[in-house]
Amino acid sequence: MAHQVEKVGTRMKKRIGYLLIGLILFIEIPRFFGAYDSIDPRLFGIPLTAIGTGIVLPIGAGYILHTWWKTAYNKKGRDSLLIWFAVLLLLEGIILIPWGMSRLQNEPINVVTGNGLLAWFWIGVVMLSPFVLTGGIVTAIALERQPKQAKHQIEQHIYVDEQSDHVQCGVCNRIFTWPGDYADERTARRALAGHMNKHRAKGDTP
Ligand SMILES: [Zn+2]
Repeated sequence: MAHQVEKVGTRMKKRIGYLLIGLILFIEIPRFFGAYDSIDPRLFGIPLTAIGTGIVLPIGAGYILHTWWKTAYNKKGRDSLLIWFAVLLLLEGIILIPWGMSRLQNEPINVVTGNGLLAWFWIGVVMLSPFVLTGGIVTAIALERQPKQAKHQIEQHIYVDEQSDHVQCGVCNRIFTWPGDYADERTARRALAGHMNKHRAKGDTP
């Protein structure tokens, strides 16, 4: 019974999580609409690029972070997903912040960016950010494959931990494990005894 309640609670939390991610779109889509309105064409009167970017950049970044979270910690390339996530956040900031400044100062966005290198840079980020996102998502999908292998590696790791035992120095908390640091319990205890003698000679107390 308690277990069932816990399960329902987890499901509810998950739903609230997805709902919150969905609500982010209410924030992002209008902002991208504002930022892109002066530069992008409309298709059948619909600001497709603004809506598309407002959806895919935040959801894509969320997907990449979620994949990082789900991927086994010892999997090669896992932490590259954090870099992709950080880069996407940066790109979102680069796109939206000059637009926010233009709203704050009540000026068109080209007054904020000027016509020089900054304008070229801003347009470059606007135009290329969807392709950067593609790279991050392809990496995330590639890492999501072969989950069995990664799981097996973790199980093996835990297995070794469960098999090993240790003694610990009461003064400095140094751990002597076997099998690991030492071949067996006898040699580990002997090493600890020698180690403790050094503490005694120096007059260390726990
Ligand atoms: Zn010690």
